Amino acid sequence: MKLIEQLINPAKYRLKCPYVLDWEYITIHETGNDQSAQNEINYMQRNNNATGFHIAVDDKVAIIGIPLDRNAWHAGDGANGTGNRKSIGVEICYQTDYTDDKYYQAWNNAAEVVKWLRKLKNIPIENVVQHNHWNGKDCPKRTRQEGTWDKFLSLCKEEATGGEGVGNFKEGYQSLSLLGSIVHVYKKKLVQKLGMMSAEGSIPERAVQNIDKIDNEFIHWCKINCGYFEMENKAIYGQHYGVEQSFTNDFAPKQNDWLVAWLDKDNSMHYDTANNYWLWKKDVQCAFSPAVIMSCDGKIELVSKAVGYSKVTNKTTQSVLIELPGKEYVFAVFTGNVNLLQVRDFAKSYGAVMLYALDSGGSAQMISEGAKKRYTGRAIPNVLTFFTGGEQEPVEPSEPVQPSDPTEFPNQDLKRITVIKIGLYIRESLGGKIIGFIPEGAYQDFNYIKFIDGMQKDGYQHCEVNGNWSYKGVEYKNKDGFIQYDSSCYLVSE
Ligand SMILES: [Zn+2]
Repeated sequence: MKLIEQLINPAKYRLKCPYVLDWEYITIHETGNDQSAQNEINYMQRNNNATGFHIAVDDKVAIIGIPLDRNAWHAGDGANGTGNRKSIGVEICYQTDYTDDKYYQAWNNAAEVVKWLRKLKNIPIENVVQHNHWNGKDCPKRTRQEGTWDKFLSLCKEEATGGEGVGNFKEGYQSLSLLGSIVHVYKKKLVQKLGMMSAEGSIPERAVQNIDKIDNEFIHWCKINCGYFEMENKAIYGQHYGVEQSFTNDFAPKQNDWLVAWLDKDNSMHYDTANNYWLWKKDVQCAFSPAVIMSCDGKIELVSKAVGYSKVTNKTTQSVLIELPGKEYVFAVFTGNVNLLQVRDFAKSYGAVMLYALDSGGSAQMISEGAKKRYTGRAIPNVLTFFTGGEQEPVEPSEPVQPSDPTEFPNQDLKRITVIKIGLYIRESLGGKIIGFIPEGAYQDFNYIKFIDGMQKDGYQHCEVNGNWSYKGVEYKNKDGFIQYDSSCYLVSE
């Protein structure tokens, strides 16, 4: 059976699912007709009745039609009824189909869905109830007629919930699923430590490492993109000295816009806003910059001001560090459109106590044991890692690549770079000082542009350029430089 999401148009939230739902029950219905799950979902989403349900299950597929974190009017127990406001509604399809065994297959699949739901939020079997429980309606009708409810519950009990929690993640890599999308999970092995590999693009001696290229006998086990936290050391394996942090030196934000989580000498995790962090830095093994910090008991502890609360509710690809009791840690990358509330429910069902949200959307990445488990868009060259072994020698920076002689490109017409989305810096050398800037929407004509093959250590593709520009009042004529660009910046040559 496939589990897929086809969520209702948010324009219908007011009608069909106006309230946020923190569910504690699972309510079982049958549809009273002979239609497939797809038809049930289509009808429910299309009509203008308030009534609805969360999931329809047939012999082949389970379709989520209303988000699991919003209520649906399915229980008939009133606007403030527990059924309507605290339960997920699951519809078993083909109730009136007696032509073959489609109904029984749907019924069995519904038990699978209930098992999965129970695991998500650690729901006790007592809280799996019939629609009848809430308002006395004869639903799920065929189950009630055929006397199979106890059998259904027993199926929902098999391989009981993940609520036993701790230990449900096995050590090392595994793939799981949430709302029909893959979750790449890596639980730290006992011999491994949590550390951060961070480097900096604009200071050559702190040579940036692409996540692909950060790979050696110590840290190749698992690494995950993470918001940047500047390190004084160049290659960090469990040591941290710095406090200044930002995504890049070019956009250094105010400290209090950002969060920091840090592991102390006793392997306990702490967190605060970045401007309070300096008080603690002497005790730090490893520090990183999450966007959101959530307790799995339901509290959202801190949200980075620079990121905003939408980071919690937006559905996107997510990467997180999960903290289990006993100072155990797990990396997870969620490949589908899930928000952090759903991620937290998932983590909680595996016994998690805290969740540290890292990168999302276009930069969520995990590489474990050498294989890319998830890799989207451009790299951000900072990783949290589970590493083995001791302190590492600082990585020697590579020689900056010098611009080619412009005479290699004689008589070429001007080439133009147009920046569609975000600004582009022009640097004197790769990772060197900034000598020009092209803001969003602007363009720059160059005497030549030459692409350097492949993604560079800072996670961008680079171009060598020669042109005229000014920056901070200084004019440059026929100056050689380098630019970084990625898919957000369109490069157009004319
Ligand atoms: Zn019902």
